[in-house]
Amino acid sequence: MQFKVNEIFFSIQGEGSRAGRPCLFIRLTGCPLRCSYCDTAYAFTEGEFMTLEAILGQVKERLGPPQQGPNAPFVELTGGEPLAHPQAPVLLQELLDLGYEVALETAGSHAISGVPKEVVKIVDRKTPGSGESARWLEANLQHLVPGQDELKFVLADEADYEWSKTWCAERRLFERFDILFSPVWGKLDIRWLAEKIIADQLPVRFQLQLHKLVWEPTQRGV
Ligand code: SF4
Repeated sequence: MQFKVNEIFFSIQGEGSRAGRPCLFIRLTGCPLRCSYCDTAYAFTEGEFMTLEAILGQVKERLGPPQQGPNAPFVELTGGEPLAHPQAPVLLQELLDLGYEVALETAGSHAISGVPKEVVKIVDRKTPGSGESARWLEANLQHLVPGQDELKFVLADEADYEWSKTWCAERRLFERFDILFSPVWGKLDIRWLAEKIIADQLPVRFQLQLHKLVWEPTQRGV
């Protein structure tokens, strides 16, 4: 079994409820979406084929034995769109079997029903501002684990904020999942978003992409 891998790198998780934690990222090549603000277009085609065994070998070498506790390094499968690889659930299960905490970043455009339940799914619900909101599979909501999985909204403008707020409220999602509201880097004013969330007393997590604050926003491998 082989996967086209764009990069494997160790860094600090910049997003989501695990922001700030050490993390080994496996970025698979390929994505059928073309979001207007995509910051990983280099992952559309660039990469080398690696066997499942070679990927697992790198993970073990770079992370060492699994560590326990809330600050332990974990593994995240990302892309591109990792679920565009039909065998991605196998890779995720193998990573779990090694004893690591495993997270998956996906756009929700592919079925997550085959993803192992224990994998923390961070599902990026594309907003109208992305140009790809119609790719969403509504059935994916049934396969998210309350209290574990996360829904992320990357907001391009004020209209995206209102749309996301309504979309979550209609489905009573605020009560069940971590909801992350993040601005498109360099597009939506971050203070406007923070103050809007405060003014509305909206029960979401405001988040920035930490790695873009620490390093150059276009830097790869961080
Ligand atoms: S889903 Fe992610 S990788 Fe694919 S185009 Fe959108 S932002 Fe880029």
